[in-house]
Amino acid sequence: MKKLFGVIGLGRFGGSICKELSKEGKEVLALDADEDKVNEYKEIATHAVIADSTDELALKELGFRNIDHVIVAIGDNVHASILTTLILKEFGVKRITVKAQNDYHEKVLQKIGADEIVHPERDMGKRIAHSIISSNVLDYLELSDEYSVVEIKAGEKMQNKTLMELDIRAKFGCNVVAIKHGKDINVSPMANEQIHFDDILIIIGADKDISRFEKELV
Ligand code: ADP
Repeated sequence: MKKLFGVIGLGRFGGSICKELSKEGKEVLALDADEDKVNEYKEIATHAVIADSTDELALKELGFRNIDHVIVAIGDNVHASILTTLILKEFGVKRITVKAQNDYHEKVLQKIGADEIVHPERDMGKRIAHSIISSNVLDYLELSDEYSVVEIKAGEKMQNKTLMELDIRAKFGCNVVAIKHGKDINVSPMANEQIHFDDILIIIGADKDISRFEKELV
């Protein structure tokens, strides 16, 4: 049976999730209390409905019990976000992803059993900050408090050297998991792979090791 998605709150974040899921051909039930927002998504989502998500009866009648994965993307209204999550949890929805506004909000969401808690603004802020600090850092993905994956532009110091010569794993403790040369991407680079100026390296490692690598080699 086709997996059903629900998106509650059609602001910038929820709206973008709704658009992307629909673009990928997924069945999406979109909900917002605001009529204009719902009208905006009428042609995009499978169904778009006006309702207050803190109204348990309304969610029940709309069939939220049968939705496999619900994304709660209510912005500022922490109270409504928590109550909505609680209702969905009581319905037994298998997977609930919630956008958290702050640490306090996250703590409560954890306690009531949200499966996935996301902080899009905070995460995007971190990613952008890393690319501001070093113009060679093209992207940054935090894996945990200590580990990340970064996309780094190869500098002159790496030019025409092989991975073996650079000895990145032994010297810095990080791993080069892929190398992009223009449009090509090599996802399992060998030790004799030569790096060219402007190649892009995708590196995984501890933040402190990545930072040392950036200072010395990029
Ligand atoms: P973003 O920061 O992602 O743009 P917003 O705060 O602008 O988020 O948008 C949140 C959306 O959630 C708004 O469209 C708002 O109408 C909707 N919303 C807020 N509370 C409720 C609720 N109780 N029921 C349904 N929709 C809600």
